[in-house]
Amino acid sequence: MIKSETILKTARELNIKAAIEGPKDVRQKVANMEKEETHHLSKYVLGKILENYDAAIKDRRPMCADTGLPRYYAKVGNHASIEGGMVTLEKLLRQATAETTASIPLRPNRVHPFSRKDYNNNVGIHAPTVDYSFEPDADWLDITVVHKGGLFGGDYRMLFPADGIPGLKRFYLDSLAEYFRRGMSCQPAVIGVGVGGTKDVCVRLSKEAACLRVVGDRNPDPEIAKLEEELIELGNQSGFGPMGFPGNSAVLDVHIEVAYAHTGGMPVGIQHFCYAQRRMSARISSNDKVEYREDPMWFTPYYRRDTIE
Ligand code: SF4
Repeated sequence: MIKSETILKTARELNIKAAIEGPKDVRQKVANMEKEETHHLSKYVLGKILENYDAAIKDRRPMCADTGLPRYYAKVGNHASIEGGMVTLEKLLRQATAETTASIPLRPNRVHPFSRKDYNNNVGIHAPTVDYSFEPDADWLDITVVHKGGLFGGDYRMLFPADGIPGLKRFYLDSLAEYFRRGMSCQPAVIGVGVGGTKDVCVRLSKEAACLRVVGDRNPDPEIAKLEEELIELGNQSGFGPMGFPGNSAVLDVHIEVAYAHTGGMPVGIQHFCYAQRRMSARISSNDKVEYREDPMWFTPYYRRDTIE
C-alpha cells in the first residue's frame, strides 16, 4: 500500500527540487551551447543563464521568478494500491501545490479567467492539471512535477497529408519566427512536436514531448529520430539565439511524438519549453520507498503501443 503521507511528502519535495534545481541534462546542454555559441551577445546571455542556475541552487530560491503553471503527470502501475484511491491522490497533489506555493515560495499565478479571483496558492478550477497514464506489471506510482513556463510558444495547425514533412518544417519555422523574436518563449527551449491524433491529442502530445523527455533523448523510430535531428539543426541555423538575440543556440532539443490520425489530415501541435525547465520525478514503490530521478520515463513502450497488446 502506498501511503498518503508518503505521496504528500514526495510531491512537496518534487516541487522544491523542480523549482530550484531542475534537471542536469538541461543545464549541461546550455553549458555546451555557451561554449559553442559564436555571437558574443548570445554567448553572454547563455553565461548569465548558467550563473542564474547556480545562484538558484546556492540561495535555495526558484530559478525563475515566474513559476509558470505547476502541473503533475502521474503514471500508475496496474497493481498499485494507493491509500484513499485516486481521488485522494489528486487531492494530495493539489495540497502539495498550495503548500509549496507558500513555503518555497512560488509566484501564485493562477487566477479565475474572468473575475481574476486568486486563492494565492496556484490552485483553482482545473489547476493544477494532473494527467494520468497507466503501466502494466507494476505496483508503483511515478509522479512528475512540471512548472511549465511561457504564455507563448504553443501553437496548432491542421495540415493535409500532402503537406508532409515540408509542411511540418514550415510550421515549425513559423513557430520559431513567431515566438523566438524578442525571446517570447525564453529560449533556448526544448520544442515538443505532436503529430497526428486529433487536435487535442496532438497538442497534448506536443506538451508531453517538450516536458517529459530528457535532452538528448531520441524517438525510438529511426525516421522520427532523424527528423528530430534535422529540426534541431534547422532551428539553430535560423539566426535566432537565446532570448531573441542573433545567434546559433536557440533550440535545446526537438522531441517528436506521433498518434494515428484521420486519413484525411495531419494535425500538428507545437510547444516550446523555456530554459527554466522545472521538472522532477519520483517513483514510490508499494513498500513506500521513494526514489527521485530526473528522467520522467513517461514515454514507455507501453505508452507508445500500436497494437491491441
Ligand atoms: S518562459 Fe520560462 S524563463 Fe521565461 S519567464 Fe516564463 S518561466 Fe521564466
